[in-house]
Amino acid sequence: MSQNFEPHGKHLIAGEWVGGEKAFSSDPVSGPSHQFSVGMAADVDRAAKAAEEAFWTYGYSSRTERAAFLNAIADEIEARAETIAVIASQETGLPEARINTERGRTTGQLRLFAKHIEKGDYLDRRHDTANPERQPMPKPDLKLMQLPVGPVGVFGASNFPLAFSTAGGDTASALAAGCPVIVKGHQAHPGTGEVVAGAIDAAIKKTGQHPGVFSLIQSNVREAGEALVTHPLIKAVGFTGSVGGGRALFNLAANRPEPIPFYGELGSVNPVFLLPAALSARGAKIGEGWAGSLTMGVGQFCTNPGVAIALDGADVDTFAGAAQAALEKVLEQPMLTAGIADAYRRGRDQLSGLGCAKARLASKAEGRNAGPDLLETTGDEWLANPDLHHEVFGPFGLIVRVKDEEQMREVARGVEGQLTCTLQMDDADTELAASLMPILQRKAGRLIANGFPTGVEVSDAMMHGGPYPASTNASTTSVGTLAIRRFLRPVAYQDMPAALLPVDLAQA
Ligand code: NAP
Repeated sequence: MSQNFEPHGKHLIAGEWVGGEKAFSSDPVSGPSHQFSVGMAADVDRAAKAAEEAFWTYGYSSRTERAAFLNAIADEIEARAETIAVIASQETGLPEARINTERGRTTGQLRLFAKHIEKGDYLDRRHDTANPERQPMPKPDLKLMQLPVGPVGVFGASNFPLAFSTAGGDTASALAAGCPVIVKGHQAHPGTGEVVAGAIDAAIKKTGQHPGVFSLIQSNVREAGEALVTHPLIKAVGFTGSVGGGRALFNLAANRPEPIPFYGELGSVNPVFLLPAALSARGAKIGEGWAGSLTMGVGQFCTNPGVAIALDGADVDTFAGAAQAALEKVLEQPMLTAGIADAYRRGRDQLSGLGCAKARLASKAEGRNAGPDLLETTGDEWLANPDLHHEVFGPFGLIVRVKDEEQMREVARGVEGQLTCTLQMDDADTELAASLMPILQRKAGRLIANGFPTGVEVSDAMMHGGPYPASTNASTTSVGTLAIRRFLRPVAYQDMPAALLPVDLAQA
């Protein structure tokens, strides 16, 4: 089945595979191109109405039922492992080994959310007991818990065809919360989306869920995404992608007659601060590690550590030399889409063209390929040129040589909102690190000591988000169990008879 898989190219709308009038051709890195329906506002409307209908049962289903559904999706995805490995690798150019790892992460995420909701602490149940004798006013009985918000829209991400797409973290956390989901698939991997949607459909049938609980709309036009964000029945949106696209959709969500939360995970350069004792003790090793993190997956990770900041001197020469030598060995590779490769070169050229950073390594890759690029600048130049602060999505590194510790803190104060900030440090660096911490805590959602930000653990204590432009809502995460909070809202019940309370609250 796997080698001969032929996508039919239809949307999955509430349990039915539906074709559209127009089609677009997929653009795989290898293997044949296929035709996929172009989803339009009418398709989104049909899916949203089915999702709303499904919410009346799914939104009130038990945690055990939803956990069984999430586990069934994971099982159905595993049952399609071979097909997924082939089609996802063809569509994205990512090696099958990476796809298989990502599949494990995706099914692991679904199972983690199943366990998480069964535990029930995410409901954050609270109870203030009544005091009818209180003066001057009696105190009411108040009970509170978290309820699902309603149908949720999810945008598949280009750089994670499985873990942040059709059945990825946004979908898993919304379904776990009790929210039906409509996914706008990413045009970079529509065949993968179709297989995964088939897995979700099979799980719906196996566990007897309402078919409107999940729909996938394939599309390569803005109309589908805009319709999803502005549809009155959609109550929240999860997104991973560019700052430009995410901001445009955020604005649409905010400008609706009824504004809704838009959880966008956008851009981050993930600065790495190289503190002097660590740099002196192991500059070359850190340089090699940085180069590895920078080029993993052709640099197409939101946690890619795009900028390294160090005190100018001989130790930074050692670091930079080792990083450059490691980067020179990295072969050019295809990026996820031709558009992303173009955007990479434009971003790199724009920074190089500013004339305030010198190229240590300039890739000659063309077309859909990209190879590593390494630039170097000074703290003075970096502070004077905000254009140097932006993300270049791909295998791009910038070294910033600062003149002293105060300038390092000034650079830290100057960085935009980040997903992560990293300190490479030894014990002798503790004082400088401690002076950076209050700044970095205000900048990023995750602070790392002596590691690199790529490789995001999916767990209870993970935070994958941060101040804008890292994300559009710094209070939440898109990875880890806390991600469920995005799709919940608290409801309080005052003096309510037990018979009228939600089961989860009545039993608490
Ligand atoms: P993107 O252009 O932001 O697109 C993501 C999704 O949003 C796609 O489904 C796209 O639909 C839709 N979309 C974008 N702008 C829209 C708008 N104005 N109205 C309606 N829908 C809109 O991201 P991408 O395609 O994944 O990659 C492009 C760039 O995004 C990369 O070069 C990189 O800079 C950045 N990126 C960042 C991350 C990260 O984790 N920070 C991850 C991936 C990509 P269409 O495809 O139909 O346009």
